[in-house]
Amino acid sequence: MNACDLMVSAGSVVTVNSDNDVVENASVVVDKGRIVDILPTPQGLQEYRPARHLQRPGHILMPGLVNAHTHLAMNLFRGLADDLPLQPWLTEHIWPAEQRELSTDFVRTGTRLALVECVRAGVTCVNDMYFFPETTAEALIESGMRGSVGMLVIDFPSAWAKDAAMYFQKGLALHDNLRGNPLIGTCFAPHAPYSVQREHLEKIAIHSTELDVPVHIHVHETAKEVSDFVSSHGIRPLAMLADLGLLSPSLIAVHMTQLNMDEIETLAAHGVNIVHCPESNMKLASGAAPVGKLLVAGCNVAIGTDGAASNNDIDLLGELRTAGFLAKLIAEDATVCPAPELLRMATIDGAKALGIDDVTGSLETGKSADFIALDTAAPEMQPIHSVASQLVYATASRQVTDVWVAGKCLMDSGTLTQVDKDEIIADAVAWKNSFN
Ligand SMILES: [Zn+2]
Repeated sequence: MNACDLMVSAGSVVTVNSDNDVVENASVVVDKGRIVDILPTPQGLQEYRPARHLQRPGHILMPGLVNAHTHLAMNLFRGLADDLPLQPWLTEHIWPAEQRELSTDFVRTGTRLALVECVRAGVTCVNDMYFFPETTAEALIESGMRGSVGMLVIDFPSAWAKDAAMYFQKGLALHDNLRGNPLIGTCFAPHAPYSVQREHLEKIAIHSTELDVPVHIHVHETAKEVSDFVSSHGIRPLAMLADLGLLSPSLIAVHMTQLNMDEIETLAAHGVNIVHCPESNMKLASGAAPVGKLLVAGCNVAIGTDGAASNNDIDLLGELRTAGFLAKLIAEDATVCPAPELLRMATIDGAKALGIDDVTGSLETGKSADFIALDTAAPEMQPIHSVASQLVYATASRQVTDVWVAGKCLMDSGTLTQVDKDEIIADAVAWKNSFN
């Protein structure tokens, strides 16, 4: 009998390993934050002596979800400006509100609210892009979640940084402060080719290689963005990123709704990661990433919610279902993006985009114990012909009961263990009451 910290026994374990194995009546065995075994429960009871043994019969265990693109603090702007196209939404509503409201307190309040939503929805890892990323990192550490915070660069002054030099200086200081943190990493986060001038993107290309950190950027979100850029620069945004040497497995290109076949082949050849944000793209009528073609070409495609201001939730299970439906609709092919593929996009492929697929994203021996339990007792969850199908097409985030990151429990049978949900909601309501 081997001693271990934790054993969770459930009806089935969805591993998302390379064979997409699903193990029935199985247990995940955890020690020192890592998965040490996944095996049938009767065998587990013979081989292991866990300090804590949780029985979750009628539950599915699966890897925690990876939200590969979001702006957590924008949860406070949920519902602020709806039913508008991207440019007036951004320039007439969101950016002016940010000019008035941005502060450490704003980011802390919005991010803490968003992280409560994330944990309750089974998300264990987020890739964030926003102002005051050091405050985002603090909130992430408080929550116990895994994540990547963006070293934001954008061509206008904000309450966080008055010019490009300060954006770089503060971002790089954050990178230094987080060095060695087991759960929180950094990405360079230039907002978009149209909002960050070329010389700053050149600098990012150099720094990202030196520091070995990914570059997380919005690219080709709308047709108008691309045509305006061609008018002003004489080149498509993606072609400029290629000129700068930014097309690589370290690039996390978000949205990508406007792509021709040459560009899709170039992205695949360079190993660029694409983050598909279907609900934000649909709500802003931005377009839709050609996910079916990207997958056929061999691209890594992950899923993101974008911020709650354009979604209006950050529920990755809901996003996953939308991603599947939309991919099939635009391809006019129901076989595009089958359920097991979609599950990978929301887990291991998100981890791959962040460069941490050796650590998280699937349930395999040696990986961090980042996993969730979902209750299948509800009538809408039965009967189960295929676990993957059920998870993608029929499971709501309210079915998530338990969440662990690096073996630490963040939600225990529906109760958050690290933060006071009611206090965080009260803070968000108080912020709204002072908003003008
Ligand atoms: Zn975004």
